[in-house]
Amino acid sequence: MGWVDTHCHLQLDEREPETLLTRAVSVDWVVVPGVDAESSKSAIELASRHPERVLPSAGLHPHDAAAWPDQASDISRLAPEVAAIGETGLDFYRNLAPRADQIAAFRSQIELAIQFDKPIIVHCRDAFSEVFSIVEETGAGPRSVLHCWTGGPRWTRRFMDLGVIFSFAGPVAFETGETVRLGAAQVPPERALVETDTPYLAPPPHRGQPNEPEWVALVGAALAEVWGLPVEQVAAITSSNASRVFRR
Ligand SMILES: [Zn+2]
Repeated sequence: MGWVDTHCHLQLDEREPETLLTRAVSVDWVVVPGVDAESSKSAIELASRHPERVLPSAGLHPHDAAAWPDQASDISRLAPEVAAIGETGLDFYRNLAPRADQIAAFRSQIELAIQFDKPIIVHCRDAFSEVFSIVEETGAGPRSVLHCWTGGPRWTRRFMDLGVIFSFAGPVAFETGETVRLGAAQVPPERALVETDTPYLAPPPHRGQPNEPEWVALVGAALAEVWGLPVEQVAAITSSNASRVFRR
């Protein structure tokens, strides 16, 4: 059994998605999240060309949250065709959209996920307490995939109580990733996914290069080390978690 890369923006990469999929020999399938209406449509289109290896997601990234009023109807229309809603969430680190707009777009996308009974892919950067309150209040915990989870032990335990699933990316393998690893140590393998966030966040020894799905194995190997488990077992568990969460 191979890996599942639960978050890679193949449709935003300047390289051909087919090239990256062909190179991903240890990856069974991937999730390609949209960041706006257009990239959500390209994710769906890519998935229709590779139904055996690609699942699409539709959503509006917090960086572009100010566009929600314009894009809401387009993204809602795509909801029945996708495996998940997102990527949505809050980014109070870069603050590329006003916080109130980010919160409004996040809440609306949670409602959409609930309405269509889909998982929701959540970006959370420097916004742990705000994301926590919204997920708690909406009861969306069990359908929430916390993408590129970088929380330390305390936030990890709090979010775990909401029933979320944690998706780990390159930072768990970074030399500077000690906090992420301490957080990951709190997560039972049954509650974890792995991802690359291609083309961003390449894990060592590829840091600084454009990331690609095949390197999800390096993320998985870092998690295996944190948990003291054989790498094959981490691949098997996280891939079966991915099938459960994304219903594949
Ligand atoms: Zn992303």
